[in-house]
Amino acid sequence: MPEHLKLTTDFRRDRLRLVEQLREEGVQDLAVLHAFALVPRHLFVPDAMHHRAYKNTPIPIGDGQTISSPEIHAISLELAEIHQGDRVLEVGTGSGFQTALLAALGADVYSIERLTSLSNRARDTLLTLGYQVHLEIGDGSLGLPSHAPYSAIIVGAAAKKPPAALFEQLVEGGRLIVPVGTSNQTLYRYTQRGAEHIRERIGGARFVPLIEEST
Ligand code: SAM
Repeated sequence: MPEHLKLTTDFRRDRLRLVEQLREEGVQDLAVLHAFALVPRHLFVPDAMHHRAYKNTPIPIGDGQTISSPEIHAISLELAEIHQGDRVLEVGTGSGFQTALLAALGADVYSIERLTSLSNRARDTLLTLGYQVHLEIGDGSLGLPSHAPYSAIIVGAAAKKPPAALFEQLVEGGRLIVPVGTSNQTLYRYTQRGAEHIRERIGGARFVPLIEEST
């Protein structure tokens, strides 16, 4: 068996238990649950954290950053309503785990990370596992206009206010999933409708801050 396929069979039972837990917590989208059954989360966290990889918690990934909890990834992906072939922008590649989930959902994934070290590590993991995605280094609060428009944009860090540039990079009907706030954060979904963005408040959130170098 090729090495990358063998890696994905490790922790299989823990992974399926996590999928069941996500389902019990209310995640209904079968494609999202299936993606969680496929992507080996333990390979996106440091070796010393493998034993915690299938718990529903965030985990430190170095450089002062964390991989978000599986539940928050599942909620964000459900809200983004990803379909096969959709062009999707992820702001904050981090470990690359959500990037892999997006690829498993069949999206054409663009992911931008401001920290070179994290982006490089994510690239190695994603390449080893055979995921074909586009990784960029830079300030994702500006989006990635060169490849816009996107069907969905998922921001993995909390903005002080939703970055205006991201709205401009959505298709009509496109979804922007973004946590907003500093100490008190709220997760929102905005849907692009003509010149308006329809806002839905999803609930409380706890993310690392989005670093906006451009402001
Ligand atoms: N979803 C990621 C995963 O699966 O590992 C976790 C994302 S982590 C909670 C947030 C990431 O956003 C960090 O890696 C951080 O460096 C990155 N970040 C913060 N501000 C950013 C910005 N302006 N542009 C791009 N990435 C940014």
